[in-house]
Amino acid sequence: SSFGHIDWQQTLDDICTDILPHLGKGQVADYIPALASANPKAFGIAFSTIEGTTYTAGDWNTAFSIQSISKVFMLSVALAEEGEKLWRRVGREPSGSSFNSIVQLEREHGRPRNPFINAGALVVTDTVISHCGDEAGIDRLLAFLRESSGDQAIVVDEKIARSEAAYGDRNRALAYFMKSFGILREDVPITLETYFRQCAIEMSVANLSKAGLYLAAEGLCPISNRAVANDAHTNRVNAIMMLCGHYDRSGDFAYRVGLAGKSGVGGGIIAIIPGVGCVAVWSPPLNDAGNSYAGTLALEWFSHRTGVNLF
Ligand code: GLN
Repeated sequence: SSFGHIDWQQTLDDICTDILPHLGKGQVADYIPALASANPKAFGIAFSTIEGTTYTAGDWNTAFSIQSISKVFMLSVALAEEGEKLWRRVGREPSGSSFNSIVQLEREHGRPRNPFINAGALVVTDTVISHCGDEAGIDRLLAFLRESSGDQAIVVDEKIARSEAAYGDRNRALAYFMKSFGILREDVPITLETYFRQCAIEMSVANLSKAGLYLAAEGLCPISNRAVANDAHTNRVNAIMMLCGHYDRSGDFAYRVGLAGKSGVGGGIIAIIPGVGCVAVWSPPLNDAGNSYAGTLALEWFSHRTGVNLF
């Protein structure tokens, strides 16, 4: 490819060194105790190519809570099952609001703006459950992540899942509000339980950079050598990541990084370079929009230093 001259390993090592003075800036998510105890100085980065090589640096092998990054993979599963009919119940427009905002739902008759805010993700999870059956929704997602990353050991952290449920009243409010408009069609407690569990899935940046490869490779997973999604869907998931992947900071992320990306409040971010690969970063402290502070900075450097910016 035209990136053949890049020393990816050196790039990751340099980022790891240069990021040190920035670690600890921002605020670790503290809405649940299990996330509040994350090490604010942790930092990991991994880059996987569609040829199947993975480069890593820092805390690349530490499993952390993927949180809203799960919304990307669940969306791929839902699109495979439901196809374009999904868009009747969830939009694909940037929200301009925070990830757990409820304000827009009333104006738009309970239909969330996009699949990457919590309300939209609950619709996506409800859709997967309607195709797989109650308890099988989370298993379907885990099977997708295990296949696409090649790691059969990926699991839900049960302590975090319980914590999500214990502090999940905002998500419950979103779900029942949507149900009152007829937007959710499955049993709400099961949808919520599945959502809490998907947020609590634990992966390392190495795993995430592999799992996201199908989005850079038109649906083909280079790890299992199988099509895990179709190419029209992956283009569309990438488009939604670009416009909605960082909530009301999606514009800032596009400006600074120039890649389709998705963040989670565990401090992880994945970014897709179509035809090239997937990069994942992790640093727990967040900016005020709930996106990793140092993670965003690292991706900004990664795109500037390698020239992978989509634009
Ligand atoms: N578990 C979090 C929530 O539902 C996920 C949000 C996120 O990662 N942005 O509030």
